[in-house]
Amino acid sequence: MTKKRNIVVKIGSALLANLELLTPRYGFLQRLLEDIAQLRAEGTNVILCSSGSVALGLRIIGETPESAGVSDKQAAAACGMPLLLNAYKQVGHEFGFDIAQVLLTLGDFEDHRRFLNTRNTVHRLLESNVVPIVNENDTITTEEIRVGDNDRLAAKVAQMVGADDFVILTGVDGLYDRNPDEPGAKFIAEVEDVGMYMDATKGKSTLGTGGMETKLLAANMAQEAGVTTWIAQGEVDHPVSSVLDGSRRSTKILPHPNPLSGWDSWIANRLQMAGSLVISDSLAASLSGDRPIRREDVISMTGDFTRGDVLHIYDSKGIERARGLSDFTSEELRVLTSNPDTQAEQLLGYRTKGEVVRSANLVMLENRHLLWDAPEEIVGQV
Ligand code: GLU
Repeated sequence: MTKKRNIVVKIGSALLANLELLTPRYGFLQRLLEDIAQLRAEGTNVILCSSGSVALGLRIIGETPESAGVSDKQAAAACGMPLLLNAYKQVGHEFGFDIAQVLLTLGDFEDHRRFLNTRNTVHRLLESNVVPIVNENDTITTEEIRVGDNDRLAAKVAQMVGADDFVILTGVDGLYDRNPDEPGAKFIAEVEDVGMYMDATKGKSTLGTGGMETKLLAANMAQEAGVTTWIAQGEVDHPVSSVLDGSRRSTKILPHPNPLSGWDSWIANRLQMAGSLVISDSLAASLSGDRPIRREDVISMTGDFTRGDVLHIYDSKGIERARGLSDFTSEELRVLTSNPDTQAEQLLGYRTKGEVVRSANLVMLENRHLLWDAPEEIVGQV
């Protein structure tokens, strides 16, 4: 049996909520879900990642996009989510399919066991021909534990399900080499290296939380996992299929020709930094995926992490060289590094080889990866 094509479609708040009234835009939903029904009829699995819960809930709690603070938005999301899902459910039924709500938080992506559990659930829904509608569970997520934007959340979903295509529907027709309102802005139809455009894309949308910058960060995650990303205006008939068949303008971000394995892609594509290490320059120069990072290699560290968290590994200049899964908690590692002459077993009370990151759990970063700035604490130290 051939594998079904999987696509993830991310839909921005401004398409789903009327900017003035903050009510659902049923006309848009009709056009979107008619197209999705058609794609499904052609044998494609579709997963939607939908924003809009905050925008749709604001009026109920007497707030506006401008007036709402963090806790207002959390309350608004609780009010808006049923409205949003109800709209999808009604219109989905018109086109003959069922939808399901999948609310996720940062931990569902960053913790590998939860990542796999979530993936199983999404696949189970697809097996039953139900369209999963994914959103962040904004109501219960505080600043420290949230993804924050649905662009990267949707990219993680695309990676999770091994999507073929990731379509980001938004209010602009794609990527420009500078702010599209500036004279002379040039449209970019195809991108290989998103790093070239990161500086040109600062700025945010009015209703959602993302902007072109988060879209490019998302596209970078997708390309690492072998997924093709498309950024396009959503306000048209057949908003998804017209992008995929190339019949209208969009920005296509190419998948990397040698994508990372599922495991390496999970390690390398982070949403939040749990902790970081600085290693010696000599080790940084010779570091490869075949050699572990040992306790004696660690010059300094930051963060409060647990076993199984991914660490960002820097050289002494603060340049990120690798990411890898920690075999120790930050407490254990602090004890190990501050007592270099005492055996690990004696310090920790269990047998261990003292490998902080095993070679199988280490991913070397290359030019194609967007590197993270080193936390200030470690830049100051080196
Ligand atoms: N989760 C937010 C919402 O449902 C949207 C976040 C975003 O727009 O990126 O309103």
